[in-house]
Amino acid sequence: MKGTIDQGAVLRALSAVLPATGAPIALHEPLFSGNERAYLNECVDTGWVSSAGAFVQRFEGMLEDYTGVRRAVAVVNGTSALHIGLKLSGVGAGDEVIAPALTFVATANAVSYCGAIPHFADSSANTLGIDPAKLNDHLKDIAVKGLGGVMNRLTGRPLKAVIAMHAFGHPVDIDPLLDVCGRFGIPLVEDAAQSLGSFYKGRHTGNFGLVAALSFNGNKIATTGGGGALLTNDERLADKARHLTTTARLAHGWLIGHDAIGYNYRMPNVNAALGCAQMERLPEILERKRSLALRYCAAFDGVKGVRLFLEPAFARSNYWLNTLILDSGHEAVRDALIELTRSSGIMTRPAWTLMHRLTMYKDCPRMDLKAAEGLEQRIINLPSGPALGETRANA
Ligand SMILES: *Cc1c(COP(=O)(O)O)cnc(C)c1O
Repeated sequence: MKGTIDQGAVLRALSAVLPATGAPIALHEPLFSGNERAYLNECVDTGWVSSAGAFVQRFEGMLEDYTGVRRAVAVVNGTSALHIGLKLSGVGAGDEVIAPALTFVATANAVSYCGAIPHFADSSANTLGIDPAKLNDHLKDIAVKGLGGVMNRLTGRPLKAVIAMHAFGHPVDIDPLLDVCGRFGIPLVEDAAQSLGSFYKGRHTGNFGLVAALSFNGNKIATTGGGGALLTNDERLADKARHLTTTARLAHGWLIGHDAIGYNYRMPNVNAALGCAQMERLPEILERKRSLALRYCAAFDGVKGVRLFLEPAFARSNYWLNTLILDSGHEAVRDALIELTRSSGIMTRPAWTLMHRLTMYKDCPRMDLKAAEGLEQRIINLPSGPALGETRANA
């Protein structure tokens, strides 16, 4: 144990960055500073509020332009985007899908919705995302080629996908991960729910997997109230996703027919209207978030035993949730620091409880999770709403 953490110093560092209004400071709040109200009014005035309307297509076009991914399909939330993405990657009942233990529960739930079983993987302390080298070693140990493709020799189940989740907006090290996936013949799916505006070696996250999922929940980098999008560079998959998420309805002027058990997952126009306004302001939102991260970084510079997690060298991150990492040996201070800051009106929180500790996932296959288990005890998320940061325009 290297000294002790001065809890007062942590609180002072936070207070130096955050506004002193006396009001509680939320972990994350959306910023509506553009055309949100005008576009919502347009929906109400024209009556186009539901599953048809011009904003949905416009929103998809904006996502395609911004991310550089060929096709975006807007859906009701990020979980449904991931569900359909996994299904279109070939994941079905009785399959196994590699997913990080350190993630929000929706990653594992989407696997379960396919009737498949999540297989939990460890994280890298450099990215907080899946560790490609450790995954490679694990797969060397358990993966065998079978008639149905690559199998887990311990469970006899096909390994159908690897999900990479870009934690708190920081991209995983994608190139070595793609090498591992290629070596074993398992497709990569990106859970990019937290990484809109985050780039890996200059390319937007979501470009690397067979499919990727974005989320526009209220606490994400940009919001549509509730919403999500499936991204893919494969036109054929995009067409299938569009079809499956709109009840698999057959194109016809007036006949109502369907050729599969589809889903009612299409994003409504009102949500997309909000999304269009948010996408117009995304550069400003990102500038604010990065300026906030910079100020946190400076404020914690002299505070012993803690550091702000910074984007890896290959990444440009959106800093969706700023993350304080306690040095190892200081795990016991986490809860006290969270209690102290919250009682001072600063809404901090720990990382998600690791998936293999949740009752419904406790018996799932997993690799050694030492790094994720270490990180879980040492992560504190800090208030990160874009309104807390600055733009060049109003700094
Ligand atoms: C938010 C989130 C999701 C799900 O998005 P919803 O829009 O809330 O369904 C999935 N995965 C991760 C990692 C998330 O953070």
